[in-house]
Formats: sequence, structure tokens, C-alpha cells
Amino acid sequence: MTPSFDAIIIGGGINGAASAFFLARAGLRCVIVERLPALARLTTSRSMEAMRAQFVEPENVAMMRESIAFYQDFAARTGLEGYDIGVHQQGYLFLTTEADGLQRFGARVALQHSLGLTDVELLSGDQVRRRFPYAAAEEITAGAFRQGDGWLSAHEACFGFARASGAALRLNTTVSGLMIEAGRVHGVETDRGPLAAPQVIIAAGPYSGRVASLAGVELPLRIVRRHRVTIGQHPLIPQDAPMVIDQESGAHWRPEKPGAALAWAQAHEPPGEPLDEVPVNPHFVHQVLEGAYRLCPFWLDVAETLRRDQVFVQAGQYTITPDDKPIIGPHPQIAGLHFNTGYSGHGIMAAPGGGRLLADLVTGAVSDETNPFSFRRLSSLDAASGHQRLL
Ligand SMILES: Cc1cc2nc3c(=O)[nH]c(=O)nc-3n(C[C@H](O)[C@H](O)[C@H](O)COP(=O)(O)OP(=O)(O)OC[C@H]3O[C@@H](n4cnc5c(N)ncnc54)[C@H](O)[C@@H]3O)c2cc1C
Repeated sequence: MTPSFDAIIIGGGINGAASAFFLARAGLRCVIVERLPALARLTTSRSMEAMRAQFVEPENVAMMRESIAFYQDFAARTGLEGYDIGVHQQGYLFLTTEADGLQRFGARVALQHSLGLTDVELLSGDQVRRRFPYAAAEEITAGAFRQGDGWLSAHEACFGFARASGAALRLNTTVSGLMIEAGRVHGVETDRGPLAAPQVIIAAGPYSGRVASLAGVELPLRIVRRHRVTIGQHPLIPQDAPMVIDQESGAHWRPEKPGAALAWAQAHEPPGEPLDEVPVNPHFVHQVLEGAYRLCPFWLDVAETLRRDQVFVQAGQYTITPDDKPIIGPHPQIAGLHFNTGYSGHGIMAAPGGGRLLADLVTGAVSDETNPFSFRRLSSLDAASGHQRLL
């Protein structure tokens, strides 16, 4: 007998787990199929784990606000009493050194206010230096700050979603085929036998293109390496700081008790193939420290006094779409086949809103016609026109 479910979710990262949670809440019996021995082992475990509502596109602002509100109240919303996902709302501070930075940030903040994000603050260079003394560079001309942004434990959130979903788990199980007949999906083939369901969700992170190709579907995804540096402990790192971002370079850092996490989405990284073990650039630690001390000079003192055993560097991959927005919802020609992928570097912060939308599309509570993240929109985008997102 082929085990049978209402929905099969391919991928046990945060977006697979969030899909399972919201589908289960809608009454579907789900199974998460994960190739690796545990959940949250691929991209989800390598991220900066940060969340922000400071976007400028209305659909992104709405999705991130929904997601942040969910994370703030995770235990109650999931029914996991006392479950702690380590939310820290210490803010996100964007900094610029452009001569017309105050005007540019002013226009962006005004747009965000018009989208209902009225708690984004516009700061002059002097205001930045007074309020955030570690952002001491004289060149800073403006800042934009939102206290409600911050970070969380992506690992805890992923496991929390999976646990609260009550979904069956098939670990160490690789999906190797999609069963499609007469334009409708019926289940998946795996290396441990077939599974049947009328709904199949591809949430396979960087491998989503490969999984979609099993159905003859091409996804316009670019897979790009990104690093994260973790500094275990250092007395010079201010633990009350927000996420601090150099708008021009893209270098960013935040405290992570008792040290910090740093990243820099460098524009020159070429796209590559999906990988489980992403090789690390040995120069990245120096590069990101240099990137961070351009605007926050204390990082020079940290760098000079760092011991090798205080620094840990790892790399993962962004899964990037041509317009930097995820692909959520149905394939228009293959009934029952859905996507929840392509988060373009925002899959932690967007997971609750994305998972809720996916479930509403699967159940028909929301129409794909009004879905800003639809698969259908991709046909009107030129893959080559996608810009290089820095964060
Ligand atoms: C350095 C770095 C920093 C980042 N910082 C942030 C941040 O601050 N905030 C933020 O929101 N996002 C951030 N991101 C992006 C975020 O990590 C991703 O968007 C998110 O983790 C994607 O989750 P996912 O569930 O879609 O994919 P993944 O976590 O990659 O999970 C996909 C799963 O599918 C499984 N799978 C693949 N193929 C198969 C198959 N055939 N059969 C079964 N299972 C399969 C994989 O093994 C994997 O476990 C960052 C990413 C990186 C690399």
C-alpha cells in the first residue's frame, strides 16, 4: 500500500515546515519529505536569522509585517505553550554615506510611511552618531531605523512549525520523481518508495529547480553563495546594537550574545549549482571585518584582538528569482503542484506570511489571480533583468 496524505511537502527547511503548519491548520494531513537526516540542515541553518519590515514594495511590506507579528507571538499562534524562538527586536539600522543620503533615505522612509510602516525613523548623520555611538564614521550622512525589526532563532522556528503541524516526517528520504497523470499530480517517488497525495509542494530551497525539473518545469532561479561569520565572544561588541547595514557596500552585522554575526552579500559572486557543503572563501572573514569597520570603526579594534578560535565562518546559498520575490502557489498547468521557494535571501523573515499564503492558495481561500508571488508572473519577467540584491 502506498502511504497516502492530503499534501506532500518536499523539503524540511523553514519554508517546508511553515507550509506544513499552515496546511495542517487548514485541516490537511501532511508529510514533510527531507533528504537530509534532520530538519533545518541546509540553508535555514546558515542564515543571519534576521527579520525586517523595511521594504518598499507593498506586497513585501505586508508579508514581512504579517510574519513579524506571527514570530512575536509564536508560542500562542502555534499552540506550543512556552516555546521560545529567541525573538530580539533590537531594530535594523540602514546607513548611507552618499552626499544626498538624507534626501534619498527621506524619500524611502516617506514611501514606507505611506505603506503603513509609520514607525520607520529617518535620522541625520549626527543623530545616528549620537544614538548609536559605535556607528561613529564622520562620513555617515543619514540612517533609517525601525525598532520592531530584529532577529530570531531560525532553527527553533523551523522545528516549532514542524512540531505544531503534526505532519509526518520522512527524513533521509530523497524525492526522485513526481507522479503526474492527465495534467494532475498524484504523489512523489522517493528512494524509499512512493507517497501519494493530491497536493505536492516544492519547498526544496536551492534544489527547487532540480525538483521542479522532475515535472518538466523550469524555474528561473539563480543559486548564489553567501557567507555568515560568527564571532563567539568579544567585550568590544555592543550587545544592545541593532542589525547595522552599510547601504552602499551591503556589509552588515548584529550582536549575537556574547559576540556577533556578520555577513556581506558581495556582488561579484557568480551563480552556481546547488550544494550541500558550500566551500568557504578563506579571505571572507577579513573582507567582512573591513566592510564592517568602514562605518563602525570599533570593528578594527575587534579585528586586531581576535583569536582564531573565536571566529567561525560558514556558507550557504541564496535562491534568487528575477524580481527577488518568492514563488508561492500553484503551477497553472499541473493541477495540485505548488511552489513555496525562491525567497531570494528573505526566507526566514517571510516564512510565516509565505506559508499562510501557500495554504490559502492550496485550499482556494485566496485566488492566484490576486497573488503577487504567483508562478504565472514569472513569464512576464526577463530572467536576465534581475538586479543584484545586496541583502
Ligand atoms: C549567509 C546567509 C544569510 C541569510 N540571512 C537571512 C536573513 O537574515 N533573513 C532571512 O530571512 N533569510 C536569510 N537568508 C535566506 C534564508 O536562509 C533562506 O531563504 C531560507 O533558509 C530558505 O529556507 P527553505 O526552507 O526555503 O530552504 P532550505 O532551508 O534550503 O531547505 C530546503 C530543504 O529541501 C531539502 N531537499 C532538497 N531537495 C530535496 C529532495 N529531492 N527530496 C527531499 N528533500 C529535498 C533540502 O535538503 C533542504 O533541507 C540567508 C541565507 C544565507 C545563505
